[in-house]
Amino acid sequence: MEFELSYTPEQEAFRKEVRAWLETSVPKGISISPREEDHPREEWDKRRELGHRLGQKGWLWPTMPKEYGGGGLTMDQTIIIDEELDRLGLSRPPYYDAGGRFAPNILLWGTDEQKKTFLPPILTGEVCTWQLLTEPEAGSDLASVKTLATRDGDDYVINGHKTFVGATHGVDQFWTICMTDPKAPRHENVSWFMIPANLPGITIMPLELMGSGGEGGAPGGHKNSVFFDNVRIPAFNLVGGENNGWKVASTHLEIEHAGGGLSVNRNRLEERVLKYCKETQRDGEPIAADQDARDLLMELHMDAESGRIFSLRNFYLVHAKKPRTYGGSQSSYVRKMAGLKNTGTMGRLLGYYALTSDAQWGPVEGYVEAQQRSGIVAVHPGGTADVQKLIMARRIGIGRTSREEAGQLV
Ligand SMILES: Cc1cc2nc3c(=O)[nH]c(=O)nc-3n(C[C@H](O)[C@H](O)[C@H](O)COP(=O)(O)OP(=O)(O)OC[C@H]3O[C@@H](n4cnc5c(N)ncnc54)[C@H](O)[C@@H]3O)c2cc1C
Repeated sequence: MEFELSYTPEQEAFRKEVRAWLETSVPKGISISPREEDHPREEWDKRRELGHRLGQKGWLWPTMPKEYGGGGLTMDQTIIIDEELDRLGLSRPPYYDAGGRFAPNILLWGTDEQKKTFLPPILTGEVCTWQLLTEPEAGSDLASVKTLATRDGDDYVINGHKTFVGATHGVDQFWTICMTDPKAPRHENVSWFMIPANLPGITIMPLELMGSGGEGGAPGGHKNSVFFDNVRIPAFNLVGGENNGWKVASTHLEIEHAGGGLSVNRNRLEERVLKYCKETQRDGEPIAADQDARDLLMELHMDAESGRIFSLRNFYLVHAKKPRTYGGSQSSYVRKMAGLKNTGTMGRLLGYYALTSDAQWGPVEGYVEAQQRSGIVAVHPGGTADVQKLIMARRIGIGRTSREEAGQLV
């Protein structure tokens, strides 16, 4: 079996079209710094503008149906768009947004009216959505959420507290799991809501974590707590049915564990470090000429390659609509553990230089310093590495008496 992607002449023609469009459509002066602290509000606005332009073109969430504001394109075309954005140091979306990633959830569980209402603004980049799952007492054990949604006539009233959510510079709505029946058994007592972020009774409190942005500049270190104090929303905003939220959560987590965008891009950081080590002299020779350095570079390369191949496998399984078991969690686990290991490998390879983003001394325009922080933090989001192992065990029939199915995606 061939593990490399190849492109048809039609796909190469599409690549040319994308490249030409990006040349004129990416706002001037957009920063590709991986450091979140280099992304002030005006940078965010430029990125939102690019997202909006991509959305108008159907290239923000290319595989989503056209009737709801997506591009109706193939996954192969999406990969080409991603590769062309990546050439410019950007990603899709070019800012933090959980909405489009989890739009398949609304597609699967929403009513027709909800799809028509919620999907177009998300898929065209008009709104920015945060996903609100974690609470102070409900992280890995998501089924323990206590944020309460109480039915009151045609509304629900929300009270509670979410934490470690979102990013910098504003949000329009929250995709949120709440408890809807405190007396019902576990897993039969939760529901999902789309909550406008500007309602009375909502307070957002920033949290600064040690992480920094990933590649493409999507922030990873700035998170928030969100407090709900008698927040009233229409019952229409309940998606997937009352107390049916665990099924919706299984879909949500399946997407998250598989990597959301199911990107099969190469690991650009590994490629950048390799290039840096070939071009940078230490003690009169390129870093890459040193035997120990080569050994470490091979570690980086092999970890990046394993991650890419697991990702490719998930991409194939999802898009060929093949049954999956533990593939999503496996990919997430490999990615998280490689990220953690890479912080050590890059530290040994580049020494103190790995810890600075200083323009003169910081390797690879600050990407390595950002990785030193985000590689550690990234073990947690979307289910910790331990939790991914737990899920894999259940999917292959150990750890629980019966095999657990993968979350429904279509
Ligand atoms: C950078 C970042 C971004 C995030 N973004 C979001 C977001 O956008 N939205 C959101 O809702 N949440 C977000 N989170 C929260 C994230 O989902 C939680 O941190 C994660 O689910 C773990 O929950 P916890 O922090 O409460 O740790 P806990 O669940 O308290 O776990 C503590 C430790 O115990 C281990 N552990 C727990 N249970 C088990 C078990 N059964 N078996 C073995 N080990 C176990 C864990 O692996 C971990 O090491 C983010 C977190 C980070 C760090």
